[in-house]
Amino acid sequence: MINYLNWLVVFFLGLSIGSFLNVIIYRLPLAIKGEDISLIHPNRSFCPTCKHQLSWYDLIPVFSYAIQYAKCRYCQANIAKQYPIIELTAGILSVLIVYQWGFTLQSVYLLALAYGLLTLFVIDVMHQLLPDIITLPLLWLGLLYSISYKEAESAIIGAIVGYLFLWGIYWGFKLIRNKEGMGYGDFKLTAALGAWLGWQALDQLLLISSILSIAFVLLSKQSKHKKIAFGPFLILATVFIMITNH
Ligand SMILES: [Zn+2]
Repeated sequence: MINYLNWLVVFFLGLSIGSFLNVIIYRLPLAIKGEDISLIHPNRSFCPTCKHQLSWYDLIPVFSYAIQYAKCRYCQANIAKQYPIIELTAGILSVLIVYQWGFTLQSVYLLALAYGLLTLFVIDVMHQLLPDIITLPLLWLGLLYSISYKEAESAIIGAIVGYLFLWGIYWGFKLIRNKEGMGYGDFKLTAALGAWLGWQALDQLLLISSILSIAFVLLSKQSKHKKIAFGPFLILATVFIMITNH
């Protein structure tokens, strides 16, 4: 029998984790760029516009945003839609994963993957950055996951080939056209995804992400010289592969 209360708890935990991911998404790029902001001992959350400290009732995921009509209570500045969207995405992903894999350790692994990829997606879109502090733990977690639930060999080869393949494309571009098509973060993310998906899925991963990125450039009419982040397309392709191959 389905216990609806369980799902409500999973959803609300997911929203809360989404709220924590918002903090990481805001603070991690600033910390990487050398600003004096701590991730380990965070100060209380504050409004990015007026720096007013927020109390617990300003920080209830989604609800505070809705009740305050998307404005800061202290300075009336608009709160970015990004915050509730990320919270809702984390909440929905949590329910979907636990629904599919149950209350198991496997779900915990996949939740970590989902939260990690969601964070990377947004940071890469906003800052064209895929921080090592997220990609490398995802790589190790992917190897552990595959050793426990899939094939170790396929995961290890997937990680190495994923890294080397993008590294090869990078140097190819650089030598032939003197252009950097992507960054080292993309290699590490592909290595991590190779560990989760296995080497057999790498061709599919790179094909789908390339098609998506080309379609995006054509549809958005972005200038060819503007660098676009490749990480989000790798992540979307991974979601597609995980759904269709399951
Ligand atoms: Zn404010």
